[in-house]
Amino acid sequence: MAFFDEPMETMPQERIRDTQLQKFKKQIRHIFENNAFMRKRLLETGAVPEEIKSWEDIKKVPFTQKKDLRENYPLGLLSGNWEDVVRIHMTSGTTGVPTPMVYSRNDLEIWTECMARNFVAGGIKKGDIVQQAHGLGLFTGGFGFHYGLERVGAKVIPTGAGGTERQLRLMQEWGTTVFTGTPSYAVYIAEIAIEKGIDPVKDLKLRLGFHGGEPCSDELRARISERLGYKAHGGGMRVCYGLTEMGGPMAMDCEYTQGIHIWGDHYLVEVIDPVTLEDVEPNKPGELVLTNLSFEAMPILRYRTGDRVIVSFETCECGRTHPRIVSFLGRVDDMLLVSGTNVFPSQVEYVLMKHPELSENWQLVVGEKKGLHTLKVEIEPVAGVEIDETYILKLEKELHSYLEITCKVELKSIGSLPRFEGKAVRVRDERKNAMR
Ligand SMILES: [Zn+2]
Repeated sequence: MAFFDEPMETMPQERIRDTQLQKFKKQIRHIFENNAFMRKRLLETGAVPEEIKSWEDIKKVPFTQKKDLRENYPLGLLSGNWEDVVRIHMTSGTTGVPTPMVYSRNDLEIWTECMARNFVAGGIKKGDIVQQAHGLGLFTGGFGFHYGLERVGAKVIPTGAGGTERQLRLMQEWGTTVFTGTPSYAVYIAEIAIEKGIDPVKDLKLRLGFHGGEPCSDELRARISERLGYKAHGGGMRVCYGLTEMGGPMAMDCEYTQGIHIWGDHYLVEVIDPVTLEDVEPNKPGELVLTNLSFEAMPILRYRTGDRVIVSFETCECGRTHPRIVSFLGRVDDMLLVSGTNVFPSQVEYVLMKHPELSENWQLVVGEKKGLHTLKVEIEPVAGVEIDETYILKLEKELHSYLEITCKVELKSIGSLPRFEGKAVRVRDERKNAMR
């Protein structure tokens, strides 16, 4: 097993905890002294730096939420010197004010280091040729990947997202061994390859895929590994995780795919019950809360990510001692309330992807009929498969028992459902007063 920085990646857990407590105390002081919004908030709640001495004290520090970043757009949460800021990213903000993140030179260095650790853990070697198809722009993803990959000595082709035929041509011309982008884009590129008569196993050399930006079930991961030839070439797909509020992508799984490693020396990981806001026990599901312990420009304390996860604090088979997200249960935001029942699109994907007859293209439609909510999933078969009425009825039964709500299934012809080069949009809410 190769490491980028073995002593840091395998340091004893007590040392990770000590580092976290020390860094948290330093970070809250930095923020208190340099940010007016946070100083006021910390004074109001009594969680001032002098009072934060132990782990119990950290629990008194108020959570930060997405609305805090938006309401303070663009620079209300800046704690570092504006003169030292060298990069500005933000979310697309298509549904409102963007969520910003700004970086000092040191912040970019830490981000690069986290990503470099991830890539080595995931199996990247010096000499790998990487087609980097995460968006290069305001979105944090592409740049985090780019700098991390260069740091480990890989050869990066920064294609950004899209231009699928060119992506395939470049893969053949340059013998690309690693592909990065969203899982939906990986699915799409595999489909276009087959359409163009390119067999990824015979005609391409892809060995690893690093895919993030949207949730991905184990079933979908297995399919992508197979379709794009990762598995046939002795590698596989790695899942990536990150969010703009924490500086971008910063966590991935290793070659053992036993959960996504989050670097504890740079991020404090907490898992809370979203209702009581108390810590949940290790290995129990809850909302992920992260603190950026190392950034200086715009560090965020106790950020409620909205992601429902299970975290393990046990050492991974690879020897890395840092916390791992071992299960992703969906985003709190993605939860649909359908006639009083909570439905997560990830649950639907879980059921569908167990069926080899169904393609990775599907859409969930929430509608309304005579004042009642309805749920329907539109599916496409894979090429050469016939799907009959009996199959549909069986699938509807299976969805009902898993979701605990009636879900109709509608068969669509191959190629009729939307494809995505970036993040997939899986839900169409056609209710008059869509409740999200
Ligand atoms: Zn590991």
